[in-house]
Amino acid sequence: MSVLVVGSTALDSIKTPKAENPRLLGGSASHAAVAASFFAPVKMVGIVGKDFPKRYITLYKKHGIDLEGLQIADGKTFHWAGEYEVNMNNRRTLSTELGVFETFTPHLPESYKQAPYVLLANIAPALQHHVLDQVKQPKFVMADTMDLWLNIALPDLLRLIKRVDAFVLNDSEARQLTDDDNVLRALKKIHKLGPKYVIIKKGEHGSILSGPSGLFIAPAFPLERVCDPTGAGDSFVGGLLGFLASQKGSVEKNLRRAIIHGAAAASFCCEGFGLNQTTRASRKAITDRVRALEKMVAF
Ligand code: AMP
Repeated sequence: MSVLVVGSTALDSIKTPKAENPRLLGGSASHAAVAASFFAPVKMVGIVGKDFPKRYITLYKKHGIDLEGLQIADGKTFHWAGEYEVNMNNRRTLSTELGVFETFTPHLPESYKQAPYVLLANIAPALQHHVLDQVKQPKFVMADTMDLWLNIALPDLLRLIKRVDAFVLNDSEARQLTDDDNVLRALKKIHKLGPKYVIIKKGEHGSILSGPSGLFIAPAFPLERVCDPTGAGDSFVGGLLGFLASQKGSVEKNLRRAIIHGAAAASFCCEGFGLNQTTRASRKAITDRVRALEKMVAF
């Protein structure tokens, strides 16, 4: 079954203590779509400007991503620049230039509207709503977000949280949203806002799922060297939803395994700049890391 992904399609300029890389392929939708593509057909919604390098379009195509919903408009592609501190956990946004996203209205092609799995990757909640308004009876809708939207679009985000099956955010965003430092209380408070499933991401320390059958504590895949964690969260949700879409049976039955597949997909993202290593992964390579993780947590 296919996965519809909406989010940012961007050029990222990334600075780490070791290197600096300008205008890499980035954006939440790009990372999520490529990670999902290892498991299921992906339909991507987004917008880029005329400056968007052709080789990046070729790369989406190489992963079989359906681009009918990708608009190419006059103007500049969304550009994000960020810098990591020595420990690679703390990141500072240096600049965000919205470019063509400033006037973007997502229009879903007819062939996208029946997609059973919908991933509202990080983008303005108003745009996430707009996509959700156009899909017909999806089986499962998952939304991701970032601190910016908690700061500048909270009412839209709260309305969105009510409309989705699963809501994903990182631990600092969960603290900000609930005004609570305790992760278990924060999960309860987020459930009260609507979603059946809540996943809190904790970076290199993994994630926690809360749902009808209780909690699931998921590890991250341990890496000796992290090159650039940009897009790890997006790869996590993309891999997760792609895996779910590839499985028979209920979401409830498959969600835990899906989270581990998301974690394995995200580990490839961290090993290279931008999408450099994710694009070199494969379903088999991801599955091998899932097996390795299984051994590491069995007791
Ligand atoms: P992550 O590391 O998972 O938080 O995601 C990083 C990605 O988010 C980068 O590729 C950026 O292009 C993208 N991004 C940064 N700021 C925004 C924003 N305001 N809206 C949408 N995407 C963004």
